[in-house]
Amino acid sequence: MAGENPFESMRELVREAAQTLKLETGILEHLLVPERVIHVSLPLRRDTGEVNIYQGYRVQYSNVRGPYKGGLRFHPDVNENEIKALAGWMTWKCAVADIPYGGSKGGIVVDPKTLSAAEKERLSRTFVRALASVIGPRRDIPAPDVNTNSQIMAWMVDEYSQLQGEFTPGVITGKPLELGGSLGRDIATAQGGVEVLLAYLKTLKRSAQSLRVVIQGFGNAGEHAAQILTLKGMKIIAVSDSKGGIYATEGFNLETLATIKKAKQTHGSVSAFEKSRKISNTDLLELETDILIPAALENQITRENAARIKTSIILELANGPTTPEADAILARKNVTVIPDILANSGGVTVSYFEWVQNLTGDSWTRELVFERLTQKMEQALATLLVTAKRHQTSLRKAAYLVAIERVARALKMRGGL
Ligand code: NAD
Repeated sequence: MAGENPFESMRELVREAAQTLKLETGILEHLLVPERVIHVSLPLRRDTGEVNIYQGYRVQYSNVRGPYKGGLRFHPDVNENEIKALAGWMTWKCAVADIPYGGSKGGIVVDPKTLSAAEKERLSRTFVRALASVIGPRRDIPAPDVNTNSQIMAWMVDEYSQLQGEFTPGVITGKPLELGGSLGRDIATAQGGVEVLLAYLKTLKRSAQSLRVVIQGFGNAGEHAAQILTLKGMKIIAVSDSKGGIYATEGFNLETLATIKKAKQTHGSVSAFEKSRKISNTDLLELETDILIPAALENQITRENAARIKTSIILELANGPTTPEADAILARKNVTVIPDILANSGGVTVSYFEWVQNLTGDSWTRELVFERLTQKMEQALATLLVTAKRHQTSLRKAAYLVAIERVARALKMRGGL
């Protein structure tokens, strides 16, 4: 079923865009499949001395517009179709953001909560050794994603640098500042999403003040979004993580958000925060709100729950949270979906800035990073709004039209088909 297989959902949108753009069949066929799918088995010696084998993937979808680029996730549900979809989305996202990258993605089928820090480090290093011949600063540049962070990137850059015999920070983005990371990268995904949201609200002449926001997923993207939106005057009324959510009609202020974060850090979940009502992830998505932000995983808004969604704007910080069937239902309800490949492109945009700094040996101020990020996000939204108007279509379809046209043009110019 297309809605349940994110790779098929992604291909459906590519086909639709290709039809509107009247792309020749050969080009479309090329855009429908990843260029390379790598599947590796990763032996890990556990702290107990036992050896377990984990499965890892790297999908290199396209390098037509530049080196492959995409995050690495550690999650028990990682599978080939998911990583193929995520690698495709990276390709279209980099094209929408108009940065000179192709797209890739990777992951390990593992629940990181079952690993000690030392085991996580060994597994991360083993993954890099397995991929060493196919990644590189001009080849394929990984970054953090679900359940991976700057510490894991640090181990990975160290492993790769040791194999190369030289410090190679440009191979990975999302690194700690001490190893060539960029100021602002930690909050870039959320910051970029907020920039797009504010620019969109401006086109509606709608004030951001006191708008109610519900956020699913309180990790890198979701937690930072909660903080930034609160600073912008919005009211976060519910947040959640994999173990459940919490809800407060009066909203959580910055201080409360810090306590929620602490509850998560010390007890493993935001739901350990006592002074609020508990809510399940399913019910959270159906709360009445002004803005709904899925910031966890794929396939959260589906044909099962789309009709019960009570918001006017969805800002997709997660990749692929809405299935095509849900999209159609939401369109009938006049819900605007700011699509993932625009909404969360702030992450890869600042990753690109980090890579540029690594390749040039430069170091940008936080102000410069955010100034350029804002420019990029506003430009991308403006292009999509014009495209959506011209084709009388949704922002998601407009995003695919822009992305597919850009990649197809580069493919044609490179020739060789
Ligand atoms: P993360 O690991 O930091 O956080 C993920 C959060 O989602 C955690 O709070 C986790 O508990 C929660 N979660 C997991 N399963 C859930 C479920 N079923 N219901 C509710 N919550 C659940 O990951 P992240 O980096 O914040 O990534 C989140 C999403 O944003 C992913 O789709 C990722 O691909 C996307 N994204 C992240 C970045 C980035 O820079 N981090 C960039 C672009 C896109």
